[in-house]
Amino acid sequence: MRIIAVLILSSLVLSGAVRAQPIGEADMLRHIEILASDAFEGRDPGTAGENKTVNYIATQWTAANLQPAGDSDSWYAPVALVERVPESYRIKFVGDDSGKTVRLRRSEIILRGREPSFQQNAIPVVFAGYAALDDGQDGSSVAGKLVLLPRTEPKGHNDLPDYRDRRLQLIENGAIGVISIVNNQNRWKRFRRFYERGSTMLADPESHGAFEGLISFDQFTRLAEVSGLDAQKLLADRATSAVIELGLSADAKAKTRLHSYTSHNVVGKIAGRNPESGAILFMGHWDHLGFCRAKDPKNPDKDRICNGAVDNASGISLLIEAAKRLSGEDHDRDIYFLATTAEEKGLLGARAFLHRPPVALEQIAAVFNVDTVALSDDKRKIAIVGLGETELDKDLEIVAAQEGREIDRSGKADAYLKRQDGYVFLERNIPAFMITSAFADNMRLKAFLNGAYHDVSDEVNDTLVLTGAAADANFHVALGRYFASTATYRGKATSGAPDN
Ligand SMILES: [Zn+2]
Repeated sequence: MRIIAVLILSSLVLSGAVRAQPIGEADMLRHIEILASDAFEGRDPGTAGENKTVNYIATQWTAANLQPAGDSDSWYAPVALVERVPESYRIKFVGDDSGKTVRLRRSEIILRGREPSFQQNAIPVVFAGYAALDDGQDGSSVAGKLVLLPRTEPKGHNDLPDYRDRRLQLIENGAIGVISIVNNQNRWKRFRRFYERGSTMLADPESHGAFEGLISFDQFTRLAEVSGLDAQKLLADRATSAVIELGLSADAKAKTRLHSYTSHNVVGKIAGRNPESGAILFMGHWDHLGFCRAKDPKNPDKDRICNGAVDNASGISLLIEAAKRLSGEDHDRDIYFLATTAEEKGLLGARAFLHRPPVALEQIAAVFNVDTVALSDDKRKIAIVGLGETELDKDLEIVAAQEGREIDRSGKADAYLKRQDGYVFLERNIPAFMITSAFADNMRLKAFLNGAYHDVSDEVNDTLVLTGAAADANFHVALGRYFASTATYRGKATSGAPDN
């Protein structure tokens, strides 16, 4: 008995000693050096670089004693993606009464089909404003129609439904196509260039009409004139009720090049002793931009790889090290670790996770997304993207105070709310945060965004600052301990009487 007790005690001490070791800069650097090495080719989804990346993460999490929580007991959850590149297209609008015809050229409109080939004539055209559709009233008014939809909300109206939601609602109500109006004429060229290059999306046909596209504000004005309407007025009226008939029909044709492929999220977990009490989730995107520059024939050896050391090898490194510290400890809640794909293509891996989560979404008590942590040398200050969005601020304040961290109250980090994987959880009312010293260090963040960000120079070199990143990693371990414990975090405040 005594011997066993001693053995247990000494092994506890031993493993305790390993775990108690705080995460240091060298721990962080080790994984960043590998993930951001040229051998990983910039971690582009669907490439050899992906295979190396997801294998590396799975190997590290295996070593950390996590359990695989992807599909069929593996580490991987497949994410079906499709890239759509417009090839050729033609569209003509005809006024129902006047018979007046407007033909649009390639520089004035851009179209792509859901399938390689699309053609349909005499499609009724309507305009939809910024308001959400009233399903009962407006549903039938878009079915089988082409909808022209403003791409951006008027300034100062963040209360309006998001463009993405408005677009999806139209598709769900049977719109055959949605053409987005680029309200700001200055943005038109840039938007069109992006569209021409092709876009990658989740391969779920339900979220796309038979065709979609972009139209410039100037050309939308021409169409509105044919309908006897004022384009300026239509776009300025934020209260514009959902759907307005334009008295136009369209003949449309589009050839589109499709490239379908499968990428993967990597998912692991630490089983809690009381999983009914819910789960918490740590996440970060593993993907980056791959070969992000064209070959220069004059200089074939020139660096073309966007290695993504800061964005986001640093975040993955944090997830690996935090997993090592948290596993083997006892927690009440399950702790999930998720490395997402295709964040750079529009938070696609995170969205795919929500479509097929390994745990019921209402069970997820808190989400911590980790992105771009290796910038600051400040171990004290942290920015919390998502502050003020949920009821968890008080708890974050407790952990911050306990860990000697000071929360940045400038609100500057709010600008990144919708640009990070955690946002798709917030959209589903799941508390999600991105907490980092990097976003509290405005000088360094700005310098990064204006410099190495999405550039070949985001690589391991002397400018990599890991002081804040290591401190952030330890902070995430503390967050894990706090939020996975029912003693410290009791869970969502339940509101008195059930609603009936
Ligand atoms: Zn990025």
